[in-house]
Amino acid sequence: MKPMNFVRPCTLSPVDEVNWMRAAMKLLSFITAFCGFIHAVQAADEAAPAYADILKIDAHSHVFEDIPAYNDLLRRINVRTVNICVVGAKQHLFLMHRIALDLYRKHPDLYPFSATFDLLGRDQPGYTDKVIAHLDGMFQKGALAVKIWKEIGMSLKRPDGTFLMPDDPLFDPIYSHLEELGKPLHAHIAEPLEAWLPLDPNSVNYAYYARRSEWHMYGKAGYPTHAELIAARDHILEKHPKLIVIAVHLGSLEHDLDAIAARFERFPNFYIDTGARTRNLVHHPSDKVRQLFLKHPDRILYGVDLGFWLPNANDTPASDAHRSEQISKMELQYKSDYDYYAGKGMMTYDGREVQALNLPRSVLEKFYHENAEHVLKLKQAWEQK
Ligand SMILES: [Zn+2]
Repeated sequence: MKPMNFVRPCTLSPVDEVNWMRAAMKLLSFITAFCGFIHAVQAADEAAPAYADILKIDAHSHVFEDIPAYNDLLRRINVRTVNICVVGAKQHLFLMHRIALDLYRKHPDLYPFSATFDLLGRDQPGYTDKVIAHLDGMFQKGALAVKIWKEIGMSLKRPDGTFLMPDDPLFDPIYSHLEELGKPLHAHIAEPLEAWLPLDPNSVNYAYYARRSEWHMYGKAGYPTHAELIAARDHILEKHPKLIVIAVHLGSLEHDLDAIAARFERFPNFYIDTGARTRNLVHHPSDKVRQLFLKHPDRILYGVDLGFWLPNANDTPASDAHRSEQISKMELQYKSDYDYYAGKGMMTYDGREVQALNLPRSVLEKFYHENAEHVLKLKQAWEQK
């Protein structure tokens, strides 16, 4: 039997082998250090920008006064707005659009705006043609999008006495026109589900429904249900698949994050804003809210839904005291919102202890400005005088 011939796996001498091992160890420690460095860079990349450094677009604002102190605040804290005209069934449309346009012309960087349309003439012949002509005029002057409000579906009626729903065929030519032009629709359809429940002092919007009983649906026979209104909104998304619908106020689905996620999956044209509803988000487990943002970072727009509102709600201009109070309120709102979305650890939001979301930088950049810039074509609007 031939003795086993042990052959060295390579041709290195024992001395070479030791050197080779040393070189390999060096390479390994270099690779480990390099990976650590890459991780550190990535972590720094994903760390939230400082509050003043990130551009914050409030995609749901209602400012109808030129208030130098407020303009200064917006510029100082790096906030820009999308100024939304709203409510189509009152006699203030001309004045409101004129103010919005004046503000935009004076401060194109701060107040790009969205238009709305008349609902008083809805039963007249040629109604939709008139609306389309009016909106085309507003688009020429720079309007970014169009707003519809909860009066459609909850208050206005058709000639036959039934409620005028948001998916009524009356509106189809208008929606189709927006679809063709690529102009989004801000849709405030329905209310939070609690509007259909008994008044509850512990609920998020108790103060509003206690004061504004006309929007509190509980016990009112013959009104559309929350589910019917949401289905009508979904029907618009289905009928007009190219129409970008920014369903404001978390799409009136603030009680159910799974229902929001399901619509993101089902309708590529469905977007939401957080206008006046961050205080609803803090009632959900933070992990779950965070997952919604991480899974659908392109579909959620930041918004606050505050403003200086004259043409519709008030007959007389606000006092200086009211203006400064409102400016302080808005400054605090923008800051505490950022603490919630971008901060870490426990915090107090709207009187509630909550874990801040600690969203990664890339998601914050989309939520706070990139989505609004993209969907509403804001860069063009800022350049236009
Ligand atoms: Zn609003």
